[in-house]
Amino acid sequence: MRFLKIQLRVPQVSILRPGILTLTFLLAFLAIPAHAQHFNGERAYEYAKDFAGIGPRWVTSQGHAKAEAYLHAHFQRDALEEDTFMADTPIGPVNLHNFIVRFPGKKSGVIVLASHYETNYPLRNINFVGANDGAATTGLLMAIADRLRPQVAGGKQLDGYSVWLVFFDGEEAFQSWSQSDSTYGSRHLAAKWDRDGTLKKIKAFLLTDMIGDKELDIQRETNSTSWLVDLVRRSAHKFGYDKHFFQTEEAVEDDHLPFVKRGVPCIDIIDLDYGPNNSYHHTVQDTMDKVSPRSLTIDGDVILETIKLVNER
Ligand SMILES: [Zn+2]
Repeated sequence: MRFLKIQLRVPQVSILRPGILTLTFLLAFLAIPAHAQHFNGERAYEYAKDFAGIGPRWVTSQGHAKAEAYLHAHFQRDALEEDTFMADTPIGPVNLHNFIVRFPGKKSGVIVLASHYETNYPLRNINFVGANDGAATTGLLMAIADRLRPQVAGGKQLDGYSVWLVFFDGEEAFQSWSQSDSTYGSRHLAAKWDRDGTLKKIKAFLLTDMIGDKELDIQRETNSTSWLVDLVRRSAHKFGYDKHFFQTEEAVEDDHLPFVKRGVPCIDIIDLDYGPNNSYHHTVQDTMDKVSPRSLTIDGDVILETIKLVNER
């Protein structure tokens, strides 16, 4: 991913009197039903740790082959499709592999949850494991699959729209980020799904990127579709997670853009601010100790609630 412009501070309400503040907290608390079951961020974290444990997963590496095998094994009992294609890159033609896991729903239409799983190619000479940049959201989607799988057991269907998990390959640039050297997997899949009519079925496309960060501050990404941003905001509010969402704005180039360009409602749920002065991003510092189960719980709660709201829309 690459961000396009300097962040704008979203105006904050700062004139709340203490009494109102107490009431706000009380209301936020009351908004959570006692029976609400939180998403299992611990499990997402364990998956992410396992996946990051494969090591560097840059395209054409042994680690990448292991990551492919890992996804195959993990989703062997699910409806898994491997979408293999040849990409033209600055290092020549390479084989890339997107993975799609489908959980069918009773309603006609699809909600896509996506992430990328490979690590940055230009960092191949350092031990860059992409704990937050790739592994955290891969683990997050695996744990979401754990919530969906029992609902489709024995040939059953989800109550609402189908949910498809997409693990993109080739998000990162091979040399330096440009329109032609980035987002290979998503550009390929968006074009393919445009040709075969699949895009028309997509009700919402939620991209997740780098949101395992302990200090979770998800920006409002300005290429994203505003009604979908609003649903995510409402979902976050339901759980009292407001402070982690949309305090600042950024325009980001990421795997959602090929879908945005084709008119699919999209949101990039991304936290660009990783470590002091962003010092963990694309460095050997991007390790599992910077990722937290709590952040993954917040992400999972909000994504599952957003799926519900998209269905009610
Ligand atoms: Zn990256």
